[in-house]
Amino acid sequence: MGETLFEKIIDREIPADIVYEDELVLAFRDINPQAPVHVLVIPKKPIPRIGEAADEDQSLLGHLLLKARAVAAELNLSEGGFRLVINNGRDGGESVPHLHCHVLGGRALNWPPG
Ligand code: AMP
Repeated sequence: MGETLFEKIIDREIPADIVYEDELVLAFRDINPQAPVHVLVIPKKPIPRIGEAADEDQSLLGHLLLKARAVAAELNLSEGGFRLVINNGRDGGESVPHLHCHVLGGRALNWPPG
């Protein structure tokens, strides 16, 4: 299979507004933001979706969540609050087959989702 869109962002083949990077994860602003702050935090390992994560990915997934928290704090969402979203598969609304955690904030978010 070819590289996913997000692998191309990791490899700097297509541009993105990167807000955080380390050896395991990359965070960048969503190109079609649904809130004043909308960032995607992705593992560099190409796990297609959370439904295909393996037991061996436990520490990577923990790292991903903690970095999503750190990005939210860095972008001043700690006080007002924020939402983390992982869409999985067709009914979950997934459109890019590379695991990503949405960090959304900067306004009051509705619940339940549509
Ligand atoms: P999902 O629907 O959960 O798979 O989320 C995929 C997200 O990727 C959507 O919110 C898109 O707006 C976002 N997206 C697609 N292409 C890009 C891109 N080139 N740079 C940043 N975000 C993107």
